[in-house]
Amino acid sequence: MGIGSGSADEERSLTQSWELQDRAVAAIPGGSQTGSKQPSQFVQGVSPSHIARAKGSRLWDPDGNEYIDCNAALGPIILGHSDPTVTEAVANQLEAGTVFTMEHPLQVEVAELVIDMVPCAEKVKFAKNGNDVTTLAAKLARAYTGREVIATQGYHGWGDVWMANGNLDAGIPEGLGEKTAGFSYNDIESAEAIFEEHEGDVAAIVTTPVNNTPPEDGFLEELRELADREDALLVFDEVLTGFRSSLGGAQERYGVTPDLACFAKAMANGYPLSALAGRADVMDGLEGDGFFYSMTNAGEAASLAASEATLTTLRDEPVHEEIREIGEQLKEGIADLIEDAGLTDVATVGGFPQRFSVGFTDEADISVGEDESASRLLQSLFMQEAHERGVLYTGSHMPTYSHTEEDVELILEAYGECYDVVAEAIEADAVADRLRGEPIGAGIRERIGGDA
Ligand code: PMP
Repeated sequence: MGIGSGSADEERSLTQSWELQDRAVAAIPGGSQTGSKQPSQFVQGVSPSHIARAKGSRLWDPDGNEYIDCNAALGPIILGHSDPTVTEAVANQLEAGTVFTMEHPLQVEVAELVIDMVPCAEKVKFAKNGNDVTTLAAKLARAYTGREVIATQGYHGWGDVWMANGNLDAGIPEGLGEKTAGFSYNDIESAEAIFEEHEGDVAAIVTTPVNNTPPEDGFLEELRELADREDALLVFDEVLTGFRSSLGGAQERYGVTPDLACFAKAMANGYPLSALAGRADVMDGLEGDGFFYSMTNAGEAASLAASEATLTTLRDEPVHEEIREIGEQLKEGIADLIEDAGLTDVATVGGFPQRFSVGFTDEADISVGEDESASRLLQSLFMQEAHERGVLYTGSHMPTYSHTEEDVELILEAYGECYDVVAEAIEADAVADRLRGEPIGAGIRERIGGDA
């Protein structure tokens, strides 16, 4: 068994990656389009800089090195890369055209599928990215309620409304931050406090329904009651959870129905499509007096074809059961490996089988340079070893329908060796010395508290 040409013992060429990275940094601010894909988020010089192609659970870098995928392109891939059913649907649509003077019928069909699947969805509006629909939800909530403050928790995108009162507020007019107030997950009192401080002016509670941890008993119900009591809207950001854990998202799983919900990532298996869904009377506010929303490519038919193929596959095949099974096997296997390597104090695995994190704490007794943290150094070493063994570890794990039991075995075999390397390096207090490239930088994930 082995993963393509990637093996810790074999000489792995990365010359194409290095050349592309230099060109990327020269031509593109930050070297990438997505915060979590910036070069600083990987072990530079050891991690591949780009992915040239992918199929199922496997990816190939520009030098031809093969990897098993672990984080599904930050969430969009649910069936597997270049899934044959989705690819065929898109290919047929490409023959038939993609955007027209009027909308394509698929727009109606996919809207109806979402309405059938998602508890809160009485009407649906499409867009392209998660941020499009979370920002639209906030604007709609303000217009619908005639109030201004958005109570929020979690990452919802790069828009002014989400970034106005944090440490990434450059370019945002002063004062806007007063209209967005943050609360903490699983802490209903912190949400209630926003309503006290901004009495009669909170338009909506916008929250990710699950974080890496599940909602504590009653938390989502309490948010629902709070919104109802205060005549505010409850909005679930299901950009990540939507269609991943179940057909109806976290709102179905936990039995709490929001007024509006935002979907993106998994709904089209890698094609750009997002959706705002919700109560008909609220959604009709999109056509309310003085409200404007429009997007040239929102009804683009190739992505809608991808979504129809993805959603019907999710509905008709045991995708969620199999993903859960693969995720459970991996989580349990990784927990055992951590124990075997004697790393229970410093290594962690946690979250849901459909999306879990494998990381490190700051507890290790190792030398750490200025501007560094023990957890980031250990994660860098683990990432280096995993990438060299052909496992595309980034921390977050999202199994797909294309992952097999063999993939699980290969990942666990590689991770077992990675933990041994980490344990030995801690023992020798030589973690930084063992790194063959720049460690992961204090990047965007830490600044926003999630994947961007
Ligand atoms: N909401 C959540 C929960 C997300 O995870 C993300 C992206 N990671 C977004 C919103 C923003 O989505 P996009 O990057 O597609 O705009």
